[in-house]
Amino acid sequence: MSLDYDLLKSLHLKLRLITDIDERIRKGPIKVKVVRSNEAGFLQSLEEAKEKLLTLRKASNEKQMQLGEREAKIEDLKGKLNACDSNKEFQLLKDRIAADTQANSVLQDEILEQLERLDVLQAEKEAAEKNYEKAQADTKSVEAKVQSELKEFKQEKIRVSTELAEAEKTIPIDLVTEYRRLVKGKGEDALGSTDTHTCGNCNQQISKQFVADLTLRKPVFCQGCGCLMYLADGYARAN
Ligand SMILES: [Zn+2]
Repeated sequence: MSLDYDLLKSLHLKLRLITDIDERIRKGPIKVKVVRSNEAGFLQSLEEAKEKLLTLRKASNEKQMQLGEREAKIEDLKGKLNACDSNKEFQLLKDRIAADTQANSVLQDEILEQLERLDVLQAEKEAAEKNYEKAQADTKSVEAKVQSELKEFKQEKIRVSTELAEAEKTIPIDLVTEYRRLVKGKGEDALGSTDTHTCGNCNQQISKQFVADLTLRKPVFCQGCGCLMYLADGYARAN
């Protein structure tokens, strides 16, 4: 039997192409999963930024209300100064007003700090909104791309599979069963090229007897991985 090594090479290329297409088909949903997970992450960051802002705004409002109440109380105490019956009472009241005014000044500082922090949190929330919007756009764009690529890949796979089936019809009849068995078990590695020294799939060394068989275009199976071997380009006429 003189095997057409060009046929084996062509079958090998097609099998590889199909593996490659399958891999690209498999990766599509993974890409979508990644961008969706990014989007969910940015949404969570946004929710957290909103929550932080809301909590601080509430605390700030409360403090401002507290300050208003305390200021009103001081005004009330000031009003009572004139009604004091004794110097002692007057002095006590003045001391209390001074202490309350001091406490209010501390409160005012705290409110100012909160307002500055609110500006920072507001900016963080806006940045988080932008990130989330961008992530949403990324998801849409990747989903659309993957969907359109999937269509292409499926068409490509049909085209290559049809060509493969056509080419397989020319495999010598006494080799078909073995070929089918190998493809079923090993996929694209059912076939392997060799430079007459080693197997292109597993690097197993080729015996002299096998080199002689290869030169005679006999079916040769690698002793390492079991693939059906063919001579690589440039080695076909070397011997
Ligand atoms: Zn091998």
